[in-house]
Amino acid sequence: MTENNKFQEFYFKTEDRLLPLQVIVDYTKYRDKSFTYYRGEMYCGECREAKLNFTQRNSGNSSYLNAYDNNSHDPNCTLKYDDATKKEFIGVYKEMKDSKKIESFLHSILVQEIKKHIDSKNNEKSTLSPSTLATNPYIIKTKTNSGTRTKRLPRKLLTNEFNQQRDSDSIYVFYGKVRLEVKTKISKKDFTYHILFIKVKKDEKWINRATVYRHNKLDIVDPEKEYHLVVLGSLDSKYKGQINLLKKDQSVLEYIEAN
Ligand SMILES: [Zn+2]
Repeated sequence: MTENNKFQEFYFKTEDRLLPLQVIVDYTKYRDKSFTYYRGEMYCGECREAKLNFTQRNSGNSSYLNAYDNNSHDPNCTLKYDDATKKEFIGVYKEMKDSKKIESFLHSILVQEIKKHIDSKNNEKSTLSPSTLATNPYIIKTKTNSGTRTKRLPRKLLTNEFNQQRDSDSIYVFYGKVRLEVKTKISKKDFTYHILFIKVKKDEKWINRATVYRHNKLDIVDPEKEYHLVVLGSLDSKYKGQINLLKKDQSVLEYIEAN
């Protein structure tokens, strides 16, 4: 699979900062089709070493970034590895569930995100790249006939628009800095349930990006505050923006207040 969406963010050398894929997508759509301002200055958002190319697609949010040379990543960069399949992701989930490690897994992803935001504020490179592959939460080992193979869990930044049709085929680690709001409803059978609304910032406005069915779990959140959020699941193939939790497990969603 060459045409994928593994580069959810890119490092823009000219401005020395990390930007979401959506920035270049919108730029080519509304400002300059040949993206002269960005061309040749985009690098892997994780290691900042591999140079990226951008391919524009007209329909369905399918534009993507890819590395010119997959061998040009830092040895510890997770983005040089192939995405885990749906089956492999479920396998990892089951193992974590059995060993009660889901909470710590989600926590380490949140820590990585918080660190990334602090680093980009201070313009530091050092901690942006993961220390080692062995401790990186996204890296998994899958069994093959000839031993093991390193893969990475596919992730999706909530700031980027979804391609509902394509993205509903995979399981992702959805992540990002968001605002949260809860709506409580009552079903026809008199059951009280909650829907979590996930909002992202676009052009200085907060817009709805995703919803998650929370069953009877009530999230205590402040709609005016920002949170780092991580959730494991897939996009519903019918309902726009609806994230279906992995195995309908309410414990695969975590968030922490951002400063
Ligand atoms: Zn890289």
